[in-house]
This record gives sequence, structure tokens and C-alpha cells, in this order.
Amino acid sequence: MISIEFEYKIVSKVATLVVKKQINSLFLTVLTVLIMLIIVNVTANAASVNHYISAHHYSPSTITKQIWKGFPHYKYRHGKGKPEGVVIHETGNPNSTIFDEIAYMKKNYRNAFVHSFVDDDHIINIANTDYLCWGVGYPGNARFIQFEQIEMHSKKSFAHEVENAAYYTAYLLDEYNLKPNDAVYDGKGTVWSHGSVAKYMGGSDHTDPVGYYKKAGKKYFHKAYTMSQFYQLVLTNYKNIE
Ligand SMILES: [Zn+2]
Repeated sequence: MISIEFEYKIVSKVATLVVKKQINSLFLTVLTVLIMLIIVNVTANAASVNHYISAHHYSPSTITKQIWKGFPHYKYRHGKGKPEGVVIHETGNPNSTIFDEIAYMKKNYRNAFVHSFVDDDHIINIANTDYLCWGVGYPGNARFIQFEQIEMHSKKSFAHEVENAAYYTAYLLDEYNLKPNDAVYDGKGTVWSHGSVAKYMGGSDHTDPVGYYKKAGKKYFHKAYTMSQFYQLVLTNYKNIE
């Protein structure tokens, strides 16, 4: 016969174990929920500009061809109509319009020119993309189609511009049978920032459009916009084109 005291001890021990187990599982549940909340939050923030674009069903502007005959025609290193990727620029001018920039480029093409310009409401192609342009120096000029983005000054116009830029990049990749491949992190691929061309190939010391994306993202979406987010938007557009 066991004593009542002993019996009580066993019961209380079992009760303690059960409570401990419940606390443990409660703790695990709370921890899991917290981790999930953090992940959801991080993902939502990181994708905020792209999210805003898809949530508002923004569709890209029509590509307008206004080819100017004054630009020189030089072949890419693999020949006419054989670009190897697309370079995304940003003008670095906070006070210009797309029409100011195009006029300026026609006047100063001997120093530099790009194929196209993008803002929130236009995608304007001014130089034949079958021939190279002069936007990133040697050796990138002989490899890539290049376009400039104008600086925007509102949340809506920045989102529209980024969508236009991503769509135009996807359109060019598709047009020249190039597979999307983010070149920004490893220096290999088809989608480049001017900054990544400068970093991996030289030719200039420019870093655009990273600074502009960062600043506009922080100003209008409380979080820097990045080239890797831009690349995701290119992929979305590429899938829609295919
Ligand atoms: Zn540039």
C-alpha cells in the first residue's frame, strides 16, 4: 500500500509534466507565429513597389519609335542585331523631362547616346537597337541595348516608370531571343544596371540607377527599391509577353 502522500506526489508530478508540455507547445506556437509574421513583413516590404504595381493593375505604356537618323551605325561585337543584354540607366537630372533629355542627346550624341528613354507615361525609342550605342563605354557598348529613365517626383509616377522600364527590358529580351538572367550580382547575364557594367567590365565609374531607385523607393515606399526587385518585375513582364 502506498501512502497518500506518495500518491499525491505522483499526481502532482504528472500534473506538472502536463502543464510543462502545454507551456512548451504554447511557446512553440507563439514562436512559429512570430517568425511567420517577420517573414511576411519582410517579404511585403521588399516587394512593396512591385506589389503596388500589381495591386493597381498598372499596364505599360506603348513603345513609340521615333528613330533619329543622325545617330551613327556601328555593329555589336557579334554583329548587327546581336545585342547580348539590356542596360538600365537613370539620367541623374532631377529637373528634366523626357523631351528635354532626347533633345539634349541628339545635340550631344558624339559624347554619348542611348537607344531609348522611359518615364511614367512614355517608352520612346530614338536609336535603332540593331546597332550599338554609346552609354557605358568600352567594352559594354559593343554588347548591350541601353535606355535611360527620367527622374520622377511622385509615388504613382515612380511606380509607372519602373513598370515601363521592366516591361521594355522584357520586350527587348524577347525581341532579340535573349533569356532573362540577372547580371547585377555576378557580372554574367542579360539584365544589367549601368553600375554593374562599370563594376564588372569598367568603361566608366557610374553607379546608376541604384541611387535613384534607393532614394525614390525610400521617399515613396519607405524602403529602398533595388535592382534585384526590378529584375523580379522584368521576369513578371517577360512571362506576360511570352
Ligand atoms: Zn548611366
